[in-house]
Amino acid sequence: MWAFPAGRVDGLFVFLTLSTVVFATFSQIQLPRVKVHITLSDILVFLVLILYGGELATLVAVMESVTASLSFKRRGINITAKTVALNGAIAAVSTYTTAYLAQFVLGPPYLIAKAGQFTELALMLSLLALALFAVNSIFVTIFTSLKTGRSLWEVWYVYCLNGLVLYLTSAFFAGLLAKTLYSFDSLLVTLGLAAAGLVYFTFWRYVNDIKKTSAQAEQVERERAEQAERHIVELEHYVEQKEIAEVALRESREEFRHAAYHDALTDLPNRNFFRQRLNELLAECGEDLERSFAVLFLDLDRFKRINDSLGHSLGDRFLKEIANRLTALEHEGKLVARFGGDEFGVILEKAGGVDTATEVAKEIVRSVSRPVRIGEKKIQTGVSVGIVIGDATYSDGEDLIRDSDIAMYHAKESSRPFELFDKRMHETAVNLIEIETGVRHAIERNELTVNYQPIVSLSSLEIRGFEALVRWTHPTRGPISPAEFIPVCESTGLIVPLTQWILRESCSRLSEWSLGPLSDSLPFISVNLSGRHFAEPDLLDHVNEVIYDTRIRPSQLKLEITESAAMENADAAIKILQQLRAHGIQVSIDDFGTGYSSLSYLQRFPINTLKIDRSFVTELSDETGGGKLVSTIVAMAKALDLDVIAEGIETETQAEKLRDLGCEFGQGYLFSKPLTEEGVLELLDGWRTREDLLRVPVVSELPGEVKA
Ligand code: C2E
Ligand code: MG
Ligand code: MG
Repeated sequence: MWAFPAGRVDGLFVFLTLSTVVFATFSQIQLPRVKVHITLSDILVFLVLILYGGELATLVAVMESVTASLSFKRRGINITAKTVALNGAIAAVSTYTTAYLAQFVLGPPYLIAKAGQFTELALMLSLLALALFAVNSIFVTIFTSLKTGRSLWEVWYVYCLNGLVLYLTSAFFAGLLAKTLYSFDSLLVTLGLAAAGLVYFTFWRYVNDIKKTSAQAEQVERERAEQAERHIVELEHYVEQKEIAEVALRESREEFRHAAYHDALTDLPNRNFFRQRLNELLAECGEDLERSFAVLFLDLDRFKRINDSLGHSLGDRFLKEIANRLTALEHEGKLVARFGGDEFGVILEKAGGVDTATEVAKEIVRSVSRPVRIGEKKIQTGVSVGIVIGDATYSDGEDLIRDSDIAMYHAKESSRPFELFDKRMHETAVNLIEIETGVRHAIERNELTVNYQPIVSLSSLEIRGFEALVRWTHPTRGPISPAEFIPVCESTGLIVPLTQWILRESCSRLSEWSLGPLSDSLPFISVNLSGRHFAEPDLLDHVNEVIYDTRIRPSQLKLEITESAAMENADAAIKILQQLRAHGIQVSIDDFGTGYSSLSYLQRFPINTLKIDRSFVTELSDETGGGKLVSTIVAMAKALDLDVIAEGIETETQAEKLRDLGCEFGQGYLFSKPLTEEGVLELLDGWRTREDLLRVPVVSELPGEVKA
């Protein structure tokens, strides 16, 4: 019959029991970084087992287990009452089984602790530890495995194996304590225990401090990790932003590049692009003279008029349509560009020969000339095309554009839809530029002079006047014909100062002659006026000033305006001519018969004289027909009460016929070529009678003549 061994309970037992409960509550020490708890209460349970036997040890073990479970609960770890009870039961069973086993194998543990050899004690302690570990392990492994569903081996390995060390350590300490107890005075032992407790507490605090420090270190580490995480996020954001900016930058760079090489209105490649492509093609040609391609320069006819009359927005739409048509033309290796305004360029990479290039040019002319319908409006225009063949003889794309432009200009001049460039065109263009720059300095450098060609009465052969004709002797090229440089002066506006100079020069000479050799007559001077002067508001003032300064009479000045210039600007011409007439200045229509003036206009022109063009006079040598036109002009002039001067009389026959037809005045090599000032004086000196004149051979050179 089992009875609780109450007789064995003494003061030490009570002390040990209370200590166990206290330590089980507060003083578990988990060794840092290892899953092992050292609890003083475990040591005490072993100690009670050794000193007081299995029954009392079981009691203390159950109390320890329950207290520990409750203390877990107090710390917020969820433990049910069932688990508390179960833990208590396991503690009871395992402690009691262990005590029983030790008793059975080795006899009462307190005897071994008291009088046993060290080996015996070690054996017993090991047995106690192993037995307690084994029994506890079995229960814990089974219950935890059932609860978590994990395998028995896994549970044992993870949760129990570490406990072996704990049990061995605890048993070892307990054995030491028991041995000490039996060897020393119990008071001393109590004090020792207290001291051990103190040491234990110090160690416990030390371990807690370590835990705190390591917790702080962990916290710092965690914060650092969090900060690093934040930095990574920020960095990623920054990288993302940078990538977006880079894409935007790349896009805007593309846009800029596109704008630099494309035309904004039509989005066609521009002149830059075109030139670059030409340079690439020239580089591909290298030295190979066999390889070539074609370049076309297009300029729409009368586009300015479309723009002015229909407005710029319609003009723009028209240009876009033309761009579309050019792009739509199918030809391998074709590049269409817009140079600006109404100028376009086309490269035909595969069209080496002239034939293909002209075929495409014809196609372009046909396509562009078709009417363009914009809303209600139907617009039609022509186009002039200049063609040049690009090959190894060229080194710069710009030269190809220049030459195709020159060819286009020739097409426009000749009213042909297209023209192929040849080297002479370039020479002409260069010549024009030279003339333009040269003529600017010609007056200052005294390279210009005025020659005078007499105008005579065909009946009396008296000199009635002179036509002032400008002459330019270029320092290197010699004499340059006015037919060559006057049009350049007209197109650049230089004609205005040039005419002012000629006017003053010739009026001064006339003034001198009127006082000298021609004092008994009232000769006139004819000065040629270009159409450009109709736009000069101070023309009249200037003419009056010259008349005043040179003291000639206004009626002594005759201004010649070519028929074509007068007709081109008829209304403006009429206005200015009226003002000139009102001041007594004479006006004559030059080169009459070449400008297709209508009779109605002719009537309105306030003029004094018609100058019959040389071409009609030349025809008079011909026995048939020629006279009819001249007689018609003379009759008409008479009807309008105008004087008639025939130009370019070279033969006596011409002079006689003109006189018979009623033409009053004549001018031509028969009488005199244009003369220098000195030449005029010499001529006047010898000019006496009709007989004199008839002795003058036509072909021989006259004194003072300038060879043109
Ligand atoms: P134009 O006003 O009709 O001048 C007459 C041209 O015929 C002159 O040529 C003259 O030398 C030439 N000529 C006169 N008689 C004969 C002849 O019997 N046979 C031949 N074959 N030719 C004859 P030029 O001096 O070469 O002038 C040519 C044109 O240049 C002028 O034609 C005129 O339109 C223009 N021009 C000449 N000087 C001036 C000027 O000072 N101012 C302006 N605006 N134009 C000028
Ligand atoms: Mg003239
Ligand atoms: Mg003339």
